[in-house]
Amino acid sequence: MTRRRWIADTWTETSASLRGEQAAHLARVLRAEVGQVFDVVANGFLHRAEISFVGEDEVRFVLHEELEAEAALPVHLLMAVFKFDHMEWGIEKATELGAERITPVIARRTEKHLAQAAAKRVERWRRIVREAAQQSRRSDVPAVDEPVALKVALGMVRAERTLLLAETEQENSLKAALEGGAESVAVAVGPEGGWTPEEMTLFSEAGWKHVTLGPRILRAETAAIAGLAVCAAML
Ligand code: SAM
Repeated sequence: MTRRRWIADTWTETSASLRGEQAAHLARVLRAEVGQVFDVVANGFLHRAEISFVGEDEVRFVLHEELEAEAALPVHLLMAVFKFDHMEWGIEKATELGAERITPVIARRTEKHLAQAAAKRVERWRRIVREAAQQSRRSDVPAVDEPVALKVALGMVRAERTLLLAETEQENSLKAALEGGAESVAVAVGPEGGWTPEEMTLFSEAGWKHVTLGPRILRAETAAIAGLAVCAAML
């Protein structure tokens, strides 16, 4: 039986709680009752859990046995900041596809007003990944970093293989770059105007390999989704 999955806001060793909007949704819309059983992720672990208390701002569970949970795809996505509605769609889909971490990058060609507004947008992006993780039945929530400049973002990457999605690359495909597998991968997607030559040089100096997703110019969010789908197939 497939049970609805919740990601707890707070927890102890033996209990977990949903709070705020999540609690209100479960209590009022889904009419939660004490004794109902769900799957709950608490502290990164998936448990069978039984409701022990239903209140306006809190639904509490007793945690029962731990369940087997699938690991996240070991992919760190560096995503240039671009038009928020398109970017947020990409963030949601990247979460569904299993990305482990997303770092928003203020690129040279990120529009000025978006660059200025990005820091205030992070909470919304974190909410999006949380909802997408829950909806896609993940047992973890990808980390979303504060938006940073490219140089800083490159210093944050610990992946074994680092791959820059570049529409200018004609030979090396992402698929070929992942043949033979990898422990962990970082993938970077540029803004609508693409990366500048100076940014491309920064990537090359940091040892990133340029890879293509094919001959067509994809929108940034399409490139992010297609890139993650290839990673999911190859890793
Ligand atoms: N500067 C480009 C232009 O106007 O010709 C468009 C950049 S594209 C909209 C945004 C980002 O998507 C790129 O920086 C790149 O990371 C990625 N991308 C788009 N098409 C790609 C392809 N065929 N292969 C790999 N990456 C691609």
